[in-house]
Amino acid sequence: MGEEQFDVVIIGAGFGGIGAAIQAKRLGYDNILIVDREDDLGGTWHVNRYPGLAVDQPATTYSYWFEPNPRWTRLFPAGAEMKSYAEHVADKYDVRRHMRFNACVEGAQWDEDAKVWRVALAGGQAISTQFLIVATGFLCQPKTPDIPGIDSFAGRIIHTAKWDEAYSFQGRSAAVIGTGSTGIQVIPELAKEVSELAVYQRTPIWVMPKSDIRFPRIAQRLFAKVPLTQRALRFGTDTFMDLANVITMWNYRYIKVANRAITAGSRIQRRLAVRDKKLSRKLKPEYDFGCKRPSISNSYYRTFTKPNVHLETNGIERIEPDGIVACDGTKRKIDALVLATGYDVWESNLPAIEVIGREGRNLGKWWREAGFQAYEGISVPHFPNFLTMASPYAWVGLSWFNTVEYQMRHMSRLFGSLQSSGATTFEVTEEANARFLEDVTKRLDNSVFRLGNCATSRSYWFSPSGEPALFRPTSVRNAVRAQDRFPLSDYAIS
Ligand code: NAP
Repeated sequence: MGEEQFDVVIIGAGFGGIGAAIQAKRLGYDNILIVDREDDLGGTWHVNRYPGLAVDQPATTYSYWFEPNPRWTRLFPAGAEMKSYAEHVADKYDVRRHMRFNACVEGAQWDEDAKVWRVALAGGQAISTQFLIVATGFLCQPKTPDIPGIDSFAGRIIHTAKWDEAYSFQGRSAAVIGTGSTGIQVIPELAKEVSELAVYQRTPIWVMPKSDIRFPRIAQRLFAKVPLTQRALRFGTDTFMDLANVITMWNYRYIKVANRAITAGSRIQRRLAVRDKKLSRKLKPEYDFGCKRPSISNSYYRTFTKPNVHLETNGIERIEPDGIVACDGTKRKIDALVLATGYDVWESNLPAIEVIGREGRNLGKWWREAGFQAYEGISVPHFPNFLTMASPYAWVGLSWFNTVEYQMRHMSRLFGSLQSSGATTFEVTEEANARFLEDVTKRLDNSVFRLGNCATSRSYWFSPSGEPALFRPTSVRNAVRAQDRFPLSDYAIS
């Protein structure tokens, strides 16, 4: 097998990879390869198919600004609509033809002599590329809990990220481990099917009311014919989401009361839905809002009042072939075990593949030794011609699209400067990277992460060493503006 050569290789065909590819094409590149280990595009929206899967942010904000979708059927559409949207965008912007599926990247190494990245695919195919963009996302390594006896379970075990549509839960007894954003979507759906459902909750989640709106045909036609109407709605949802973030998370020092006030909706909803005070208390988070990913639902709390649903909060001691034994000794016999246990965001994912930069710097090792960092959440010193999208301090706002789009803007300016100077290589300087890290670290001093009560939240927004190193602690607007203003001298261009 000879080596294939590309100008741009993008790892991941989710919304990050699609956005990066669209920007690369706008910048004039066409010799692009997008590789993905899955068998189709869409990233998390291709992989996840569990019942109840839906977008828990307004789709007007959770979508590319440059490609509004007048066909959303509701403000919080089902996951299948997101997958269709990904397909639509990939086709419209002609990036699908660059995609190669079932292609797993084993690692990438910078070749300083040839000034290219050498990328190894499983199966032995060798690839070289001038530019490498890692767009593997934060949520791509499903986590199986290390609970004693889990391997001995004789019934069905299904992780929500690997849903088995052929398996019927009808009339069976089941348990769900995990009450994160996924758990709160799947639990109400499973409760309708199974005979008995035990929910093993370790840490309660803040669940806000879901103010969903159905968009009837007439609204969809209006959005298509007069795009400004949908833009106006988007302005509202963007502003709300950004303000909520900035106020409750990043300015916790100054406006603690707002942080508490925003949870009123959740408290009221819980008290109205769950009249049993003991049960209601068990569902109440003890940590501050914003320490951990909240979500929305109008059916989650109510589900626990069904006679066939049981909330277990005593912890799991072990799993046996026919059931789960809680730490208080009680055992529940089950036919199926659903793991809504989320993803390994840190250990096996930052980065998701081995990346070796200049002078042999190993990105994963360096992040663990020197601390998680990435200039403007996208580039790293010692890694020439390399961009990483799900990076430390990259995530701005709650919608992933906010992050992807400011990063596309960054690409535009960076590659534009490269092209206009006739250069071939860029690398962010150590000084610029250190300055950015210092700035975000300082800003975090006002945040709920540093000042709030997050100790009991068990939030994956914190690194294993306790640093809240995923978010860029600014408004979306600030992140976007920074991409138009960062000094181009922050990059060594040659
Ligand atoms: P998650 O938020 O990490 O939640 C995992 C759950 O599993 C937590 O409740 C966790 O408890 C529990 N868990 C993990 N290991 C356990 C163990 N050994 N024993 C008992 N419980 C255990 O994962 P997720 O719910 O899949 O959500 C991940 C992310 O996906 C979200 O934060 C969100 O960004 C995204 N998401 C988005 C949407 C959407 O609509 N846009 C929908 C779903 C998910 P602890 O909290 O105690 O660790």
